Amino acid sequence: MSCILACSLFNFNVINPEKSFIKLDKNEERQTFTISVSEGCKSCGECITVCAYKALEWEDENSYN
Ligand code: SF4
Repeated sequence: MSCILACSLFNFNVINPEKSFIKLDKNEERQTFTISVSEGCKSCGECITVCAYKALEWEDENSYN
């Protein structure tokens, strides 16, 4: 969740999940999350930096998983 808030704060100067380029979709049945990044992502890496669980990492210089 910190990744979502960091993205909106860094890119729009607001703490608003609706503004974030990164989204988490919860699968209620499996109790898992899927992370997706929308087109506007600037590859700044702020979301990776703030994740306490190290759930995000760069896949290559332009994308991450
Ligand atoms: S890398 Fe993309 S999703 Fe992550 S904080 Fe930056 S703009 Fe947002």
